[in-house]
Amino acid sequence: MANIVAIVGRPNVGKSTLFNRLVGMRKAIVDETAGVTRDRHYGKCEWNGKDFSVIDTGGYTINSDDTFEMEIRRQVELAVDEADIILFVVDVMGGITDYDAAIAEMLRKSKKKVFLVTNKVDNNDRIYFSAEFYALGLGDPYNISSASGFGTGDLLDAVIESL
Ligand code: GDP
Ligand code: MG
Repeated sequence: MANIVAIVGRPNVGKSTLFNRLVGMRKAIVDETAGVTRDRHYGKCEWNGKDFSVIDTGGYTINSDDTFEMEIRRQVELAVDEADIILFVVDVMGGITDYDAAIAEMLRKSKKKVFLVTNKVDNNDRIYFSAEFYALGLGDPYNISSASGFGTGDLLDAVIESL
């Protein structure tokens, strides 16, 4: 099976920023063609000689008769179906929101490999805030700053280990 890594999370946590960092200069965003791909960005990432595809979920189309929460759920379901590995991004400064908790529950029920990613750890003081995210029941949070790149190497090391 192709190695597919999906980035999920509620809006504004930094999914697209992380996607752009992972895909980097080879921003091989394929398309937003028909069907399930229509509201997703695809890219390629290579780390230590291993290649995988990355999906950035969220953002473009909200079905008008869907509620916001339904739309987030739908995107997480698609990601779980499509991907081998899920990067579940939360905002380290935002605390655990209801959306975060709902997504975490869906992901715990899936049998997929999930990495909990606490984003926006822009300085060392913020590492402290990631501890509360253990309550999501998804193991150790990976502290990163998608903006600066802090922590993304350690995250990628762990991701390719489980490919
Ligand atoms: P998405 O809705 O989850 O795709 O989030 P975006 O990638 O669009 O980012 C939402 C906002 O968070 C933007 O203003 C980003 O610049 C900001 N952001 C993303 N990553 C970081 C980060 O590591 N640190 C900080 N301080 N801001 C970030
Ligand atoms: Mg986005």
